[in-house]
Amino acid sequence: MSNKELEAAMFHNTDSLYFKKNDKVKEARDFASDYIKFIGSAKTEREVVEYAIGILGENAAPYEYGKKYSTGDVVYVNNRNKSLVAVRFGRKPLNEGLRIIASHVDSPRLDTKPNPVYEDNGLAFIKSHYYGGIKKYQWTAIPLAMHGTVILRDGSKVKVTIGEAEDEKCFCVTDILPHLAYKLQGDRKEAEVIKGEELNILAASIPEQDTEYKDPVKYTLMKYLYENYGITEDDLITSEIEFVPAFRPRYLGIDESMIGAYGQDARVCAYAATVAFAETEDPEYTSMLVLADREEIGSQGNTGLDSNMIANIVADMCRANGGYPDIVLNRSKCFSSDVSAAFDPTFSSAYEVRNASKINCGVSIEKYTGARGKSGTSEATAEYYAWVRSILDGNNIPWQADELGKIDEGGGGTVAKFIAALGADVIDIGAPVLSMHAPFEVTGIFDIYALHEADKEFLKAE
Ligand code: MN
Ligand code: MN
Repeated sequence: MSNKELEAAMFHNTDSLYFKKNDKVKEARDFASDYIKFIGSAKTEREVVEYAIGILGENAAPYEYGKKYSTGDVVYVNNRNKSLVAVRFGRKPLNEGLRIIASHVDSPRLDTKPNPVYEDNGLAFIKSHYYGGIKKYQWTAIPLAMHGTVILRDGSKVKVTIGEAEDEKCFCVTDILPHLAYKLQGDRKEAEVIKGEELNILAASIPEQDTEYKDPVKYTLMKYLYENYGITEDDLITSEIEFVPAFRPRYLGIDESMIGAYGQDARVCAYAATVAFAETEDPEYTSMLVLADREEIGSQGNTGLDSNMIANIVADMCRANGGYPDIVLNRSKCFSSDVSAAFDPTFSSAYEVRNASKINCGVSIEKYTGARGKSGTSEATAEYYAWVRSILDGNNIPWQADELGKIDEGGGGTVAKFIAALGADVIDIGAPVLSMHAPFEVTGIFDIYALHEADKEFLKAE
């Protein structure tokens, strides 16, 4: 063996030329173009769930509790339109375990407060309560679109989308001009440059001429909502309204090798997983796709994974189809599919470069997440990691092993630990993202394609 060959055999390599060398550029570009349609039109967890059910296709039916299913049946539990669990029954009995891909479909955004609408000095605003970990200053001075589900007094449900169409009106949070920011913001720390109570969404400025109300501009805003949607102030209380960046997803870079878009954490993973699940017909093991809500705020709640959502469905599947839930879950294998922090040379001091994933060098794998001494995380065993590695290497899927930044720099978590708590083997796998949680996140098209391939091979693997 030459020294060069010996080096290749001994060292782990990440290779951004992998796709070019292996003639997979066209496949990756085609996949990216479908992904762009998805990420540009599904901007809330509800919209992702609806889109995902569409991807599952006509053969997928709503799950019926207590029903016996056959090999090949595809069913889904639509959990309150905000999270989704889909199951494809395999050849093997449930007691052999499931192949689970779990991702999350909620993203950081500005929700509305219960009493959101007010007028101040001739301008109408909407009070927001941010959702998830955001750098608040990033959410000012950009166009925002309103996506809402509002339940009216009579119980009817109204969907509102304002600001997505090319020339449609939109909204924004204002920021103070630099000329006047010196005193006001100069001494504030990053987290406080914009405060939570300053994330007020500008929504109207012309007063209603013919009224004598004390809030004539607020009147203008409410009148629009009432006349177009039948929405009153009380209806705004019984609603879920999310303000999200209004810009379109775009190819990024002169080589169009990246995608810039809102909400890619973790919808890029949810999309790859959903397509892989839909494409992988006839698996040996029963496969399960989980698109969870509420990950960005800790997974609590009945649509998040810090709940009995998965366990309850598995229990019911076992009742009707034979199997023991504890055994099924203990023998299950899971991809917790979420994004990782791509290495950013501009902020290199936050990363440990030997353990950081790079854009377009393959799927990123995290054995554990957590922070400061591996606290608050599950961890994949060496044996399970080796099994995953054998799938990736066996199918020539490029992968990178990383951690989320330097040990004591910060940290984060995913849904992995909640699935580990059910007894399953779980590892984090996903795509590296630049500017994570920003209104415009960046992914690599080759990573997205590699992730989709990894998901498919995982669902098929012995
Ligand atoms: Mn995530
Ligand atoms: Mn996140």
